[in-house]
Amino acid sequence: APALRVVEWSDVAQWWPRLGAASEKYTRGVVGVATGSARYPGAAVLSVGGALAGPTGLVRYAGGARDEVVHQHPSVIATSRVADAGRVQAWVCGSGLGTDDRAATELRTVLAAPVPVVLDADALTLLVDGSLADQLRRRDAPIVVTPHDREFTRLCGEEPGGDRVAATLRLAAWMNAVVLLKGDRTVIGTPDGRAYVNPTGTPALATGGTGDVLAGLLGSLLAAGLPAARAAAAAAYVHGLAGREAARSGPVSAADVAVALRPVLSGLP
Ligand code: AMP
Ligand code: MG
Repeated sequence: APALRVVEWSDVAQWWPRLGAASEKYTRGVVGVATGSARYPGAAVLSVGGALAGPTGLVRYAGGARDEVVHQHPSVIATSRVADAGRVQAWVCGSGLGTDDRAATELRTVLAAPVPVVLDADALTLLVDGSLADQLRRRDAPIVVTPHDREFTRLCGEEPGGDRVAATLRLAAWMNAVVLLKGDRTVIGTPDGRAYVNPTGTPALATGGTGDVLAGLLGSLLAAGLPAARAAAAAAYVHGLAGREAARSGPVSAADVAVALRPVLSGLP
């Protein structure tokens, strides 16, 4: 049987990067967010919202939704293209990016950077194209893919099925990436056969855009230096708690989840 752990608050508390007196915006880490497009600006705003709640000191945005992102989040430094974004310690790529040639170019540029990446949504669709999949497998820096069931099925060629831990570990080994398989109990699996299950999920999260918030938060944890599996497990745990927190005041939208990350994280010891 695989090494399987249920994520606990004490794990998150132990792993989460903290501010110290000597903290400085660059040493806290810089996360790059390559999501959204002129057609889907909301995905960019939501993923940047997740990233801003994380431990990094700076968020850079690269994509077709610059104006919306900066309007909603004035602390973000925005460019149109990944190649012009400057140095980051991790990239988040995919949500609302589209699947056209421009999107594929942006994804290639992200994959060429020697830093950890989170790939979600349209980036996963683009990966089904063979040449990108090869670039992925040759990569040295960590990769986290965050599919929901339909994205998993497209990537894998088969549905996750009943044993979601086994399915996650199969994809992780095949892609040589950490896989975060979303669902009511999100599973995180590593290429070397370790797995985490997140117990904090809530059906309140079953609404458009919440996955974008998760991807941004996860990218921030990677940029702050957390190892990929811990970053994925901690992000899923806190994201679930934020869904519950948001649901206390009524029906939840994804923007509410991003806002609710703050009170949840203020509970870290
Ligand atoms: P996405 O489909 O990419 O927007 O991501 C949806 C997010 O909501 C993921 O973090 C899922 O784990 C979470 N989620 C969706 N449905 C449920 C559910 N029924 N229970 C718990 N979490 C859910
Ligand atoms: Mg999604």
